[in-house]
Amino acid sequence: MIAELTIDLGALRRNARRLAAHVAPSHYAAVVKSNAYGHGLVPVARALEGVATALCVYRADEALAIRAAGIATPLLILGPVETRELDDVSAADAAIALWDAGAFRNEVARAARKRERRFPVHVKVDTGTTRLGFDAAKTADAIASLASDDGVDVRGVYTHLAAAEELESDYTVEQLQRFERALAPVEALVREHRIARHAAASAAAMLFPASRYDLVRAGIATYGIWPSPETRAAVAHALELEPVLAWTTKLVVVRDVEAGRSVGYGCGFHAQRASRIGVLPIGYAEGLPRSLFGAGVALVGGRRVPIVGRVCMNMTFVDVTGVPEAHAGSTVTLVGCDGEERLEADELAGLAGTIGYELVARLPAEVPRRYLEAEMRTSGRSAALTG
Ligand SMILES: *Cc1c(COP(=O)(O)O)cnc(C)c1O
Repeated sequence: MIAELTIDLGALRRNARRLAAHVAPSHYAAVVKSNAYGHGLVPVARALEGVATALCVYRADEALAIRAAGIATPLLILGPVETRELDDVSAADAAIALWDAGAFRNEVARAARKRERRFPVHVKVDTGTTRLGFDAAKTADAIASLASDDGVDVRGVYTHLAAAEELESDYTVEQLQRFERALAPVEALVREHRIARHAAASAAAMLFPASRYDLVRAGIATYGIWPSPETRAAVAHALELEPVLAWTTKLVVVRDVEAGRSVGYGCGFHAQRASRIGVLPIGYAEGLPRSLFGAGVALVGGRRVPIVGRVCMNMTFVDVTGVPEAHAGSTVTLVGCDGEERLEADELAGLAGTIGYELVARLPAEVPRRYLEAEMRTSGRSAALTG
């Protein structure tokens, strides 16, 4: 096996429970788009049953995969849905996001009539992220019109924030004000139809309690990764999050290299002294960012070792001169713990010039994932690790 991801579903559930408690009485919905941020869509969705009030996905096929696995948690598709997908989505009872009043709305109503069942929708409002959403000024009319359409069932109205990772964010306060102003004309309707208002992703849910409304949509925090260092510094004392994912591989070979020798493509690295260079069987095609060249680290034998030379498509070099016992077959940890040392997704991502979100979301679906079940973990045994 070239590399392996170990996903601790017990840690995932504990994070989810803590988040749910942290945002209560607002409801907690978990975002499981992008293969559950690289953690594996169906196992994560299943582990969150009974903890998350809803699951948010990006695409219709993700919603269908969750239903095919027999998971009944309410679903919201955040991204665009094609007309040809509407019948399947309707049969799966997944809600869709609506952000314009054009022809698509008629297709939605048509799909609903076919099933003689109103199509569940969440109305999206753009309050300044300038991505998807009705103009704030047109939102009230849209909600009023949709609420009187017997083809749709307006379950929610929501917006998405642009700058909620910052502690002092005037922009976030402004976006929330725009959201509230947009809804003010239909306040009674929203109450009467019990339309859920939501705005917060992980960071806003932590830093801006006013943004929690009826529901929060927490992705990254569910996986035990902080949305930003500032968020962590501000909230970690009140909210414990455990990393869920560990990423390991093994050294293919360890080579003795003389001083001055070039390592890898482009002769981008020369050994400064007689060195021992280990070769990893994974590269950027397996999710290790190429930008770790000259900056990255990994854990071998409980120690931090530098990534040297350019990261290749399928191979990477580490300098293990400081780990005399390193040999072909030694475990290399890219994310996770080895002895006393720990390397977090965020730290590795930071060394690559990106964020934890991107690092985990780009872990290829083909990398084998091993799931530690909650029960096995709490009994103190790592039985699943031998499976
Ligand atoms: C991805 C996403 C989220 C979750 O964001 P996190 O920062 O991972 O919690 C919430 N809402 C929308 C609309 C999203 O696209």
